[in-house]
Amino acid sequence: RAKELGRNSYQFYAAAMNEFSLERLRLEKHLRNALERDEFILHYQPQVDLTTGEIVGMEALIRWQHPELGMVPPDQFIGLAEETGLIVPIGAWVMRTACAQNKAWQRSGLGNLRIAVNLSARQFAQENLVESVASVLAETGLAPQLLDIEITESIVMTDVEEAVNTLNAFKALGVKLSIDDFGTGYSSLSYLQRFPIDVLKIDRSFVADITEGADKGAIANAIIAMAHNLGIDVIAEGVETEAQCDTLSQNMCDQIQGYWFSRPVAAETIETMLQEKKTLPANLLRLRAPQR
Ligand code: C2E
Ligand code: MG
Ligand code: MG
Ligand code: MG
Repeated sequence: RAKELGRNSYQFYAAAMNEFSLERLRLEKHLRNALERDEFILHYQPQVDLTTGEIVGMEALIRWQHPELGMVPPDQFIGLAEETGLIVPIGAWVMRTACAQNKAWQRSGLGNLRIAVNLSARQFAQENLVESVASVLAETGLAPQLLDIEITESIVMTDVEEAVNTLNAFKALGVKLSIDDFGTGYSSLSYLQRFPIDVLKIDRSFVADITEGADKGAIANAIIAMAHNLGIDVIAEGVETEAQCDTLSQNMCDQIQGYWFSRPVAAETIETMLQEKKTLPANLLRLRAPQR
């Protein structure tokens, strides 16, 4: 009986594994062709300055328009792209498309906005990474200071020496550098000081805490204070409510990004927002009445 059960569950397991790897193979095969078939698209999420209330930049976020599955979010395929190495050509497409788009916005008079591009671990480890970014900037004509490269703590902490070299080379090129999802990794403060970082992006889990519980936003506030002491700007990610925005503003956060102001949207929607000069309500701006 037990033996039979064991065999059944083994068969079940094997079948499930087969299905799983078939699914994976299918996905991988599709992923390989997705670039040629032009199935990727970038959406853009505004980053808003808490002093002026204006949109000062946006983050480019990839989506896969799969012929059968519809719009596939990055969490569902970036991992596979990373494992298979496909992230390198996909990431190169993202870099080129985002920089070209930002330059086009600048040319049509929509402003000198910053464009943030996410890099994965595999991309960051690429031999010719900095050169390839430099050539994208040269090809598109985008000024280096209008490109912001986002990397996570875990990426820079994997090999600190190597990361410092790469980040310094990026700094020499003139691009901005951000640490994404800050607070979720294990970077120690002493390392943070060694990285030539311009921006810390507070992970949205700490932003969610900012108006909840007894120690309301203790971590977010500590990150803001520490970053400012190191001369680093702070962007709060995942701001979903006016109350969160208000608290961040009072606590001297520099910029916000989140569903409350805008979800990631197609390029045309960004254009409309910029033309209509969508801004934050004046009562949420930083450094208002001195009694606050
Ligand atoms: P991320 O870089 O931390 O990007 C922020 C994610 O938070 C985005 O998810 C965005 O849609 C979501 N988000 C923004 N505001 C809010 C909010 O108010 N509430 C909530 N709940 N979520 C919010 P998305 O677009 O699904 O991207 C997920 C992750 O996939 C990104 O996290 C990034 O790590 C990765 N990714 C996206 N695009 C690329 C890319 O071009 N290259 C690489 N290597 N990774 C990418
Ligand atoms: Mg990011
Ligand atoms: Mg993030
Ligand atoms: Mg992330």
